[in-house]
Amino acid sequence: MSELHQFPTLPTQPFRLDVPLHELLQQPAHKPQPPRPGKEQTLPVPVFPQHPELYHELDAADIAAHDQVLRTGKRHWPPSKILKTMRGWMFPYFKSRILPGEFQPIIAYLFTEWKCNLDCHYCWSYDNRVKGMTEDTAKRAIDWLETTPCRVLAPTGGEPLLRPDFVHKVVAYAAKKDFWVYLATNGRLLRPEVTDKLADAGIATINFAVDAIKEKPGLPKAFEHVDKNFDYLVRRQYRHGYTMFFNTNICRTNIEDVKQLATIAHENGISITFHINEAPMMEQGHFKHLHQNDTYIRQEDFPMVDDLLDWLIDKQRQGWKMVDSIPRLENMKGFMRGVGEHWGCRAGQNWLIIRTNGTLAPCFPLYNAGYDWGTVGEQKFDVAQLSEMKKGCEPNCFSTLGYNVAYCYSAARVLKWLGKQAMHGFQGVTGSFE
Ligand code: SF4
Ligand code: SF4
Repeated sequence: MSELHQFPTLPTQPFRLDVPLHELLQQPAHKPQPPRPGKEQTLPVPVFPQHPELYHELDAADIAAHDQVLRTGKRHWPPSKILKTMRGWMFPYFKSRILPGEFQPIIAYLFTEWKCNLDCHYCWSYDNRVKGMTEDTAKRAIDWLETTPCRVLAPTGGEPLLRPDFVHKVVAYAAKKDFWVYLATNGRLLRPEVTDKLADAGIATINFAVDAIKEKPGLPKAFEHVDKNFDYLVRRQYRHGYTMFFNTNICRTNIEDVKQLATIAHENGISITFHINEAPMMEQGHFKHLHQNDTYIRQEDFPMVDDLLDWLIDKQRQGWKMVDSIPRLENMKGFMRGVGEHWGCRAGQNWLIIRTNGTLAPCFPLYNAGYDWGTVGEQKFDVAQLSEMKKGCEPNCFSTLGYNVAYCYSAARVLKWLGKQAMHGFQGVTGSFE
């Protein structure tokens, strides 16, 4: 069922939720408390390199693997990597369906940092006054998640690579416990030596966020600043067995850039995911650019964004790799016009976020909610509360991850996907659920 809201891409007030729900989330009876201090724990110092034989200049095998991907669109996966992906996604999925209880997470976002080295004008997801996660919290979080079905861990921020050694420890510790680790970064600090360490530690995929080719006002995530890091990362992925993809936010000021970034992704044989620029769902006291912001899409921009989405859909039909399905890209047109719907969000049940201080929330859009959903080791998610809340937030929400988890959680879709993968000998095991 569709509902109409204010245009979510252009703010008219500091938040988009209904006032009573916003008040409930901001001024709850109990505020979340960080985990009770215990004996301070630390993460082990990773051995580096664990695989010295993989550190050498690009060779014929790297070039042949890259050429094969460009020629056929397919990548060869050894059995060990297929098993790793199945341990990360498939086994937890089946466990989550079988085990009793409503809280059966598959994916956890670990906010190791809430600081950032950039200032994208649409972004409220950083505050440089907030201290990063401690090793104690990160270790307790991973140890706790290991007791649940969850085996996908996504260190994120802010910019997690502000502390590359910390992230190296997190990735190494989680990968040793068979987590499929997925890092989101703006790529500025992803220098070759950092890529080497993350690859050696067992990173599974890197979400490389970039919005423009050349930096423009309010959009500092520009390819011109990260092209060397990108090149190093993309060329070594076959040797180490990780993947990478672009992550691009569609704004009113980067329409041509989005096409060029999609082209760069295609020419390098990688995938790309898109967001449609959104105003904050909840009030963000620290956000500086709410009212003066050129990146927000206005009503007069809709035809231009529609054309871009049609162009992307056409490219996807031609075989360009994109994380978002064609219906998802089509839905972006409605969403920017304020058309929202209920889509079966599973946040707080099958995915969650862990804030820098170790408190929990169902999802990223509610990062700064004051509601008490518990803490690492003591979750307090309550399906009745979540369901009631989602009546209000779901039609306002276009969370890419939330939508994809909801879409993929259907048993029929998973079985169809598994059948398709089996037909291809599981050689395309990272493909979409479409
Ligand atoms: S790089 Fe990411 S976290 Fe930092 S300001 Fe930009 S969007 Fe926000
Ligand atoms: S719909 Fe789900 S992902 Fe979106 S704000 Fe609500 S709980 Fe979070």
